[in-house]
Amino acid sequence: MKYKYVIVGAGLSGLTIAEQIANNLNEKILIIEKRSHIGGNVYDSYNEDNILIQNYGPHIFHTNEKQVYDYLSNFTKWIPYEHRVLSSVDNKLVPMPICIDTINQLYNLDLDEVGMKDWIEKEKVPIKEIKSSEDVVLANAGEDIYNKLFKNYTEKQWGTSAANLSPSVISRIPFRFNHDTRYFEDKYQGMPKGGYTAMCDKMVESDKIKIILNTDYKDIIDDIEYETLIYTGPIDYYYDYKYGKLLYRSLRFETETYDQDSYQEVAVINYPNDYDFTRITEFKKLTSQEIPNKTTIMKEYPGFDDEPCYPYPTQEYLDKFEEYKKDMDKENNTIFLGRLAQYKYLNMDLIVKNALDIFQNKIKGD
Ligand code: FAD
Ligand code: UDP
Repeated sequence: MKYKYVIVGAGLSGLTIAEQIANNLNEKILIIEKRSHIGGNVYDSYNEDNILIQNYGPHIFHTNEKQVYDYLSNFTKWIPYEHRVLSSVDNKLVPMPICIDTINQLYNLDLDEVGMKDWIEKEKVPIKEIKSSEDVVLANAGEDIYNKLFKNYTEKQWGTSAANLSPSVISRIPFRFNHDTRYFEDKYQGMPKGGYTAMCDKMVESDKIKIILNTDYKDIIDDIEYETLIYTGPIDYYYDYKYGKLLYRSLRFETETYDQDSYQEVAVINYPNDYDFTRITEFKKLTSQEIPNKTTIMKEYPGFDDEPCYPYPTQEYLDKFEEYKKDMDKENNTIFLGRLAQYKYLNMDLIVKNALDIFQNKIKGD
């Protein structure tokens, strides 16, 4: 078999770069994918009750990058959706991220913006240098908020204390002094109409793209002639773990279907302090599907044993990745893309943007 480009992984990274090469350069591409489907972690499918399930957890598209929004709009229409999350604390459901309403509901107060600033000022812990995710919350909102909303959720999600995690993890969550209860503030937000898998199928419609599923690339790569390999799998696996294993956090997903119209108030409710799962997602509320008397929910149980989802942002593993990075920088005909290969906690929009940039700067120009 002969291809100019071989892509390992049919996630959003692999599919974006495949689409760009096929439709701009008219070259033949082979994508090799270990799982039985394309889409990677954004894969979704209809269950027996015709409810669209996001098989690897809730995915909400949000971006400030017009380029990315316009690009994906070539392959899907959008359902308008602004994500709202509640956190179950002290027998109440309070808005997450923290805003004036969170504080008022949690502490039975009636603060306005100035009042919240004064309240937070008294709670904040002075920290000279922010070194961890724990420091981020203590410095922004103080110990009680940390204990109620962040400490146990983070320990469940990552299997370690927020004190051991890079500040970047919790810095994803804003602290707001207004009444904005949306999870994201980005200009473009929505869900692909018809789902992510339909969008992904459209991206790789070209007959220049061949996809082999259910195959680890190492099982067949020696039999393929190619010029450039684009690798989106775990980076330690690519190098046969020569500097040791990198840790990736994974999730186990459990779904349940109920004979009722609605299960919970909003699409996602977080459970920081109870249960082994972190959150419950009710899919119909994400996708605006109208199916009477049936609803499907998903519980997420973090661990290390399932498909790798998240690079593990402790200093030990960030340092180990730097060793791999030196080898990656020396490669001439391999390009590394995506969350697993770049060992970076990237949202879908940056995944797509990186792939578009790499195509422009590294592939098109060659
Ligand atoms: P992946 O989707 O992981 O794709 C990599 C592919 O490579 C996989 O299909 C894998 O099977 C394949 N592969 C690996 N090794 C091999 C091998 N040896 N041979 C062949 N194939 C291989 N982002 C958002 O913007 N909004 C959200 O709301 C959001 N929610 C998320 C919720 C969860 C639970 C998770 C885990 C992620 C979420 N994300 C979200 C992030 C989003 O999933 C990623 O940004 C995106 O899916 C990464 O795409 P990727 O192609 O880099 O990686
Ligand atoms: N987090 C938390 N409590 C919450 C929500 C998030 O402590 O109710 C922390 C947790 O450590 C999580 C991080 O903030 O990993 C980032 O949250 P985000 O929702 O961005 O994580 P994602 O689900 O997108 O990985």
